[in-house]
Amino acid sequence: MSSKLAIFGGEKAIKSDPGDMFTWPIITREDEEAVLEVLRRGAMSNTDVTKKFEKEFSDWQGTKYALGFCNGTAALLAAMYGCKIGVGDELICPSVTYWASAVQVFSLGGTVVFADIDPNTLCIDPNDIEKRITEKTKAIMVVHYLGHPADMDPIMEIARKHNLKVIEDVSHAQGGLYKGRKLGTFGDVAAMSLMSGKSFATGEAGILVTNDTEIYERAIALGHYDRYQEGSIETDYLKPYAGLPLGGYKFRMHQLSSAVARVQLKYYDERTEEIRKAMNYFWDLLEGVPGLRAHRPPKGSGSNMAGWYAARGIYVPEELEGLSVSRFTEAVRAEGFEGCYPGCNKPLHTHPLFKTCDVYGHGKPTRIANSKYDVKKHDVDLPVSERFSFTSYVIPWFKHFRPAVIEEYANAFRKVAENYKELLPGDKGNPEDLGGWSTYFRQ
Ligand SMILES: *Cc1c(COP(=O)(O)O)cnc(C)c1O
Repeated sequence: MSSKLAIFGGEKAIKSDPGDMFTWPIITREDEEAVLEVLRRGAMSNTDVTKKFEKEFSDWQGTKYALGFCNGTAALLAAMYGCKIGVGDELICPSVTYWASAVQVFSLGGTVVFADIDPNTLCIDPNDIEKRITEKTKAIMVVHYLGHPADMDPIMEIARKHNLKVIEDVSHAQGGLYKGRKLGTFGDVAAMSLMSGKSFATGEAGILVTNDTEIYERAIALGHYDRYQEGSIETDYLKPYAGLPLGGYKFRMHQLSSAVARVQLKYYDERTEEIRKAMNYFWDLLEGVPGLRAHRPPKGSGSNMAGWYAARGIYVPEELEGLSVSRFTEAVRAEGFEGCYPGCNKPLHTHPLFKTCDVYGHGKPTRIANSKYDVKKHDVDLPVSERFSFTSYVIPWFKHFRPAVIEEYANAFRKVAENYKELLPGDKGNPEDLGGWSTYFRQ
């Protein structure tokens, strides 16, 4: 292999045109026809297609109920309400996640308590949960981050021991497995985004799944007035208020998205299987390259990376004499992978919304409006979350198993890592401010 890095004028490692290698979602005539059917019938705001989708989704997910939403943010709020998080209650959530795993708890009068992530899974660290539990803790939010399953066994054990609810945010990992079992079936309830950037991509939508009738009916009562009918609700205390949404929200799923969702579901397992084959091949090619680590569960564990959403690699600068991830990714971009940037979500506990912002006029920060929680004292000991942006980088999110193309991309990473010494003299280090609040991918 030529050792001349492209950043210094050498030949690029990536020469081929990616074509539709990164195109997502895959839309065919079948999606188009399904949307047109709803459009021509004038049924955009009906629920007939949505209900069919919910039935198919719950069968696929393996849960008793599935409830469609206008987006994942609303579905997660309904999951929190379903678990009875209310005034003064605490929700333990990883600091590294998209904001919609956490912020909605403000509108329930609750408090977010942040826990650290595990450096290998990048999901909530089970060893960091127990010390954050107080008498106010109501639930744990588990995010299967960037497609990687969280370590559910110890998490469920802690939850059982302390009598806590578990909510799974499956927005990055629809259809993924932990030890052979589908994500979204471990906790009391799971909710997820189905928006077009995600691996299960249907437009703007979300879905909540559960086996628990009370949680399901509370989710309906909060924001689905048209389904909140006395005759169809089993939970007694919800019956008197049927007809109007308890939250004052309207969370109905748009039927154009439901139509796309039904078609996407038919092909989802087959398509994500191919993604996993492609992505695993990429990482197999890079096995043992210094500085680079795959973000994926061990082979043979029965766990997988679902649709490998917003794919990232783990960076170990110590193995490259401290070369900054910024310099590293700059060199990979020069090799022809223009989407290679460092970082991902910044740790939420560092944003002023969680420190000082008085959203609702309580006269104090909304996060602690109903709580004795001391932000300065408790938002500490989150070292992995704080370092995360400096130890991660975007990798190509292949949608097809085309070995020759994948090899070119893997060679780009290998070439840069193996010739890292040439990059050290020009390394200006990382800017202080890597990562974003809500950006996942820039390719
Ligand atoms: C995208 C996302 C959400 C919110 O879903 P929307 O459909 O965008 O409202 C929630 N949690 C995580 C982890 C996400 O990535």
